[in-house]
Amino acid sequence: MAIDPDFKSKMKVVEKHAGHDVWGPVSPPKKLGVHGSQTCVDWDTCNGDGICVEVCPVNVYEMVNTSGHPTSEKKSDPVREPDCIKCMACEVSCPTQAIKIEK
Ligand code: SF4
Repeated sequence: MAIDPDFKSKMKVVEKHAGHDVWGPVSPPKKLGVHGSQTCVDWDTCNGDGICVEVCPVNVYEMVNTSGHPTSEKKSDPVREPDCIKCMACEVSCPTQAIKIEK
């Protein structure tokens, strides 16, 4: 299931990770929420494909290990979220539509 475009009205910031917000509720390792408030990745939708890492021109993402998650055991993490230039390449490339870029 794609990231919910209205997730901010339905979820809350429950923690910080690598300098960005994490929207939950979360219940690791099976429910991981959304990482980022501008460059937003739904970790419960992300399948660890990694194309976002390849297409991003400013190297916003790093893959992190998420052992035990039912969809995939690695996720794309927007560790350099402030560097995002909102080119949309990651959002349009994501095979599971896990990414939402806030304009
Ligand atoms: S919108 Fe562009 S710059 Fe921002 S994270 Fe995605 S690929 Fe990188």
